[in-house]
Amino acid sequence: MYSDIFNAIKKHNEMMKSSIPLIASENLTSELVRKCYLSDFGHRYAEGKVGERYYAGCKFIDEVEDLAIRLTKKLFDVEHVNLQPISGVVANLAAFFALTNPGDTVFSISVPCGGHISHDKISAAGLRGLNVVYYPFDVESMNIDVSETEKLAREIKPKLFILGSSLILFRQPVREIVEIAENLNAHVMFDASHVLGLIAGKVYPNPIKEGADVLTASTHKTFFGPQRALILSKEKVAKKIDKAVFPGVVSNHHLHSLAGYAIAVMEMLEFGEAYARQTVRNARTLAEKLHDLGYKVLGEKFGFTETHQIAVDVREFGGGGPVARKLEAVGIILNKNLLPWDPIESTANPSGIRIGVQEVTRLGMKENEMIAIAEFIDMALKDKKSLQEIRKEVAEFRKDFQTVKFTFEECPAYSLC
Ligand SMILES: *Cc1c(COP(=O)(O)O)cnc(C)c1O
Repeated sequence: MYSDIFNAIKKHNEMMKSSIPLIASENLTSELVRKCYLSDFGHRYAEGKVGERYYAGCKFIDEVEDLAIRLTKKLFDVEHVNLQPISGVVANLAAFFALTNPGDTVFSISVPCGGHISHDKISAAGLRGLNVVYYPFDVESMNIDVSETEKLAREIKPKLFILGSSLILFRQPVREIVEIAENLNAHVMFDASHVLGLIAGKVYPNPIKEGADVLTASTHKTFFGPQRALILSKEKVAKKIDKAVFPGVVSNHHLHSLAGYAIAVMEMLEFGEAYARQTVRNARTLAEKLHDLGYKVLGEKFGFTETHQIAVDVREFGGGGPVARKLEAVGIILNKNLLPWDPIESTANPSGIRIGVQEVTRLGMKENEMIAIAEFIDMALKDKKSLQEIRKEVAEFRKDFQTVKFTFEECPAYSLC
């Protein structure tokens, strides 16, 4: 029955409404963005570039895409923008097609060290036939070891350096890698899926400004967009990128979500800086409080985090698997996460959890709420109260945070459906 679907959505919304959402790759969109989802744009095709479409009927879609491109150029101060990749992995695949040939060697960050699966052999990089070599990585600073990378690069001569991660606590050494790449005539791409909103909000350095040739990113993690992606680049690789996207890896580019993205860019231009600053402040506060409560928060010597994320080693509580399940039972939603020393096979129960505060920040939470969240986590993991009791308190706590902030018209977090 079709009503089963709406019932499932309703129950999902009830669950989310009364929980604390801390998945680092997710966020909420404003009602303005969500309204675009319901438009007729979602039934149409607009293959090709603005003004050069293959089908008739694209006049107003052109207006939207053209405006979205212009605003994106303004927001990131870049030469070239392609807004057609429908997801981050698709954007990465396009970048690999544009910048490499099968058989080329590329550097990427391994998954346990925070890299994304699409940078690895079993996903997009492998599908392009690339030979993937992992960067030497320093666990204490949770960052690439530049001098070891330089040595190894001279030996293996990569054609592409892939930067950016899914577990990304600190600024990565883009300038240093660009310098190494220039000597080898190699390209540098930065996958900013996680930190795009922080770059837009000027709390994380813009990798293109630091010399990267290409930036790929999904638009829905720290950025205010719906689920899709973009590629920013220098003019010199623009043609290759555009061809790799279409006709390469995208046909229809989901025009209802493109319209929503255009609104999200406007929100970022207006509210992005305040949002990004509060997000990083919140992450630091939560990290410090968890540390004070005795948790092994990574990156201690470096201030725990410069992004929306925190990583915690929870082996003493049974590992990331049981911890994520226990927290879910009290309404705290986050993910288990591999940490650098974990073998890739240990995904079922890795050492860590990853926490992201970008969504609760969008809901208006500030430092005081971060302290409360750390206390809820602590109560659950140290069995200070029954799980049912904590679940009730979490729902009560969440009652005051039911609207999406940092937008032109503050709106209920779960409306329209
Ligand atoms: C989330 C993520 C992606 C994938 O994005 P999708 O939009 O889910 O395809 C790619 N790269 C990194 C670094 C990510 O964190």
